[in-house]
Amino acid sequence: MKQLIIANWKCNPKTKEEAEMLFDLVKKGLKDVTEAEIVICPPFVYLASLFGLALGAQNCFWEESGAYTGEISTPMIKDLGLEYVIVGHSERRKYFGESDETVNRKIRAVLKEGLTPILCVGETQQERDSGQAEEVLKRQITLAVEGVSADDLSKFALAYEPIWAIGTGNPCDQKEAGKMLLFIRKVLAEIYDSSVAENINILYGGSVNSKNSASYIKEAKFQGLLVGGASLKADEFVELVKSAA
Ligand code: PEP
Repeated sequence: MKQLIIANWKCNPKTKEEAEMLFDLVKKGLKDVTEAEIVICPPFVYLASLFGLALGAQNCFWEESGAYTGEISTPMIKDLGLEYVIVGHSERRKYFGESDETVNRKIRAVLKEGLTPILCVGETQQERDSGQAEEVLKRQITLAVEGVSADDLSKFALAYEPIWAIGTGNPCDQKEAGKMLLFIRKVLAEIYDSSVAENINILYGGSVNSKNSASYIKEAKFQGLLVGGASLKADEFVELVKSAA
């Protein structure tokens, strides 16, 4: 199975010229890498001008169309030729009021279009400190997959992204991340069954860089990575992918 390495550019860069330059450098740097599927998730406005690597959206709306000012729907994302959609990123949960219920609606909309959802789950520092990390993950996963068939679940990628590790330069130690990976599989096995749980791609995200990327794949046995900050520097991202792949 190919690793899945997702670059989440978030609300960067500020101009189309910079976006195209970054994309081209990454594309050139990774042209010989065949062991990993690389997916770039830029802001929506740049999507139509980037070609040559798989692309994903950072968010979507759950209705197909209608009077919903400012929203981008999954049929629109599909029509642009995209394959992946990030759903439930902690920044969307924190700043834009995304709830477990809206995450579930978005997941279903993504699946309906035959796209691959990248579902993000993870606990805050406070939840971890008070011993609630597993409970939080269980709730987020259970509610996100409500009404999702086992067949559809096999199309998922699920990213474990401890919130305290995102953008902080303080990654989750790979042993601890590996434990959470097993816990996520256990939760999925309880909801579905163990073969479904074994087959889903689980990624790690949170301060991944070129020095630590390999440890999450080779030691903690994640099937891929979700990368924020390090995906905005072409050299660093190329090195990160090569080291992991
Ligand atoms: C993210 O935003 O999903 C992320 C993992 O960010 P960073 O790599 O910057 O921690």
